[in-house]
Amino acid sequence: MPENRVSACRHPLPLPMSLGEFELIARYFTRPVRRAALGVGDDCALLTLAPGMQLATSCDMLVEGRHFLSTVAPRRLGHKALAVNLSDLAACGAQPLAFTLALALPSADAAWLEAFSQGLLAIADAHGCELIGGDTTRGPLNICIAVFGEVPVGQALLRSGACAGDDVYVSGVLGDARLALEAFRGTVGLTGEAFSAVRTAMEQPQPRVALGVALRRVASSAIDLSDGLLGDLGHVLQCSGVGAAVEVDALPRSAVLAAQPLAVQRECTLAGGDDYELLFTAPPSRAPAVQAAATQAQLAVTRIGRIEASAGLRLQDGEGRPVTSTRRGFDHFRQ
Ligand code: ADP
Ligand code: MG
Repeated sequence: MPENRVSACRHPLPLPMSLGEFELIARYFTRPVRRAALGVGDDCALLTLAPGMQLATSCDMLVEGRHFLSTVAPRRLGHKALAVNLSDLAACGAQPLAFTLALALPSADAAWLEAFSQGLLAIADAHGCELIGGDTTRGPLNICIAVFGEVPVGQALLRSGACAGDDVYVSGVLGDARLALEAFRGTVGLTGEAFSAVRTAMEQPQPRVALGVALRRVASSAIDLSDGLLGDLGHVLQCSGVGAAVEVDALPRSAVLAAQPLAVQRECTLAGGDDYELLFTAPPSRAPAVQAAATQAQLAVTRIGRIEASAGLRLQDGEGRPVTSTRRGFDHFRQ
């Protein structure tokens, strides 16, 4: 073990009749530290940054009934809780290092905790992001994760860098998570296989970390799509002081969504939310570098429009005719 690492105090792992706070932390959320200088078990965790690196940090909360349905399997919930946070690191081009977990639970249900921690730690391992601390309390189910990542000084992708003339791109496909939500609400009907595909998109989003890292020094701005394209692109335009024209029917979508009526497709791709794809901009001269980044990340990226000098977002169909949408991005205090 390198000298700068200190082993966190190791709890025994008993199997108590009823699980107390510290047994619960020890059993489900404590593992040997790997990269961190100090992990779970002391008052603070310690992280050592490599020279020339900046710490990127973000925090996202998941509240039952607000961010997830009570029907979600705990393993998938564990995955999603970290995925949405890793997606913020991806949007900044940061490489994940570690995270903390603040958890409010109505009860210490061993089967639930086992499945939740498995889902959580599996995606953590897939991204080399270690759990270094947290807080555990009784209360209505609420999961709050803070992630820490690193990015070379000055290379973080920001919302504020888009320039007139830049191309606008998105990764992957949009709208499946929203389609799943509509299926749960009963406003659209889907066959078993189609429902299961979009439900997986909603419950197990894949954060685009490799793409974000590959877009350092390529993209002029980036954001992850959590609240729907209209709202999230709107943030980029506002932060960058520019406008954009977007071709609505060029937005990439799955075969399942493409089988829906055009109005549903547009609603889901434009105002869906929970996509966790990256939206980014780059000057046309960097189009080959964008494609190289996509290849490196093994992910499709699609050009959906262009940044323009005049403020506002102009939606167009394939023939360049204006498309109107009254929808905005999701706002917790507006809807
Ligand atoms: P303190 O009272 O000093 O804030 P706690 O008693 O809340 O510490 O937690 C004890 C240790 O367990 C700390 O290192 C804390 O970071 C960690 N911890 C608590 N809850 C969790 C959790 N859900 N996941 C990971 N680590 C946790
Ligand atoms: Mg303390």
